[in-house]
Amino acid sequence: MKLFDVIIIGGGLSGSSTAAHLSNKGYSVLVLEKSSHKSIIPCAGGMAATMRNFLPIDIEKAIETEVKRVHFTYESKDKVIAELSGVSPFLIVKREVLDNLLIDKAESQGTLFINSVKVKSLEKRNDSWEIKCSDESYKARFLVIADGSDSHWSTHLKLGPKRPRYAQTAAIRLNGLGNLSKNSVRFDFGSIKYGFSWAFPLKQSINIGIGTFIGNYQINNKYLSKRIINYFGFNTDDYKTIYKRLRIWNGFYNLHIDRALVVGDAASLCDPFLAEGIRPSLLSSFYAAESIHDCLSNNDYDLSNYSKIMQLKWSKSMAWGKRIAEVFYRFPQTGYRLGVKRKTAPKRIAQILSGEMSYSDIAQRVIKRLLFQNS
Ligand SMILES: Cc1cc2nc3c(=O)[nH]c(=O)nc-3n(C[C@H](O)[C@H](O)[C@H](O)COP(=O)(O)OP(=O)(O)OC[C@H]3O[C@@H](n4cnc5c(N)ncnc54)[C@H](O)[C@@H]3O)c2cc1C
Repeated sequence: MKLFDVIIIGGGLSGSSTAAHLSNKGYSVLVLEKSSHKSIIPCAGGMAATMRNFLPIDIEKAIETEVKRVHFTYESKDKVIAELSGVSPFLIVKREVLDNLLIDKAESQGTLFINSVKVKSLEKRNDSWEIKCSDESYKARFLVIADGSDSHWSTHLKLGPKRPRYAQTAAIRLNGLGNLSKNSVRFDFGSIKYGFSWAFPLKQSINIGIGTFIGNYQINNKYLSKRIINYFGFNTDDYKTIYKRLRIWNGFYNLHIDRALVVGDAASLCDPFLAEGIRPSLLSSFYAAESIHDCLSNNDYDLSNYSKIMQLKWSKSMAWGKRIAEVFYRFPQTGYRLGVKRKTAPKRIAQILSGEMSYSDIAQRVIKRLLFQNS
């Protein structure tokens, strides 16, 4: 049985970026992916431009739009526009292209990808993991779980929340840009219970979707209705809706055990307010690779630094994101008036989308304002 430095289960964004980082450092990496190929990935592709610093590749080919403006509405009315200042702080990437760039990079550095594989069992034996698949078994010094929002293996290994919380999404891709102005994205609150609808433009097509964030609220095709599609300037029945649940952040948990860790959606890192999952996927992949590298180069096995750094760099902010989501989506009209229609809101929203500000920064400002008003 061949011994790899690292085996990664799941070859999506998180798995392939972890593989690209690790193989870049010279480690032998095997990625086990259950699907045979990637068709359309139901992701709108909105990403803070600063995330380029956490990628081991140039992503120019994957960038479809540099967003200059964000349009918000409440029940299709009451428009607020946030102008994004600075040089392209928010990008729309085509996920199929981004994921393939990462896979190509990892493969060119020696990573072995095996597709259409079924992992049957994982077992820790002394100082390595044994992974049994339908046809073969593999061994690795470290294991990375990257099997996405429907992760079986994170639950199995007790990594992340005991009871994952989910946002429900439905998404379509249409040709053309409808009534969207160039370089802008749209969010509409209030029309979808406990969530919002969005339209994010690519170069010649558009990702339209809806998401709900509270109480595992089920959605079906009646929610991504003609009304929403018409609202974004389309008049067609010719589309395929993809339904997907997303594991959203649900508390502070260790993301590592002995010689194993979890990254991306499998780690329940998605933003519980806006469903931002690319940033935590890329952050977790970057820091996971750094932690494994530290262990492999120092002959160590303690991955606790990874859990600590993710708490600091991501979860601290998400704890506030979760509180904000719970209030905002239960009282969306008030939330929109106080959160989006405030004079300073467009600037703050732009800063959140670009990664310049976190939900905790926003919460601290609000708390200070309240204390000041009450003193
Ligand atoms: C409709 C929609 C819109 C979104 N829009 C945005 C957005 O605009 N901006 C943003 O930041 N985020 C967005 N997200 C979130 C973002 O897409 C995810 O956070 C991101 O794809 C997570 O990547 P991942 O690699 O962790 O998981 P995935 O991309 O789900 O990859 C997991 C991989 O693991 C494989 N796998 C699963 N089980 C197994 C197994 N047992 N064995 C082997 N392989 C397995 C899967 O086939 C898959 O390839 C959106 C999500 C949805 C659903």
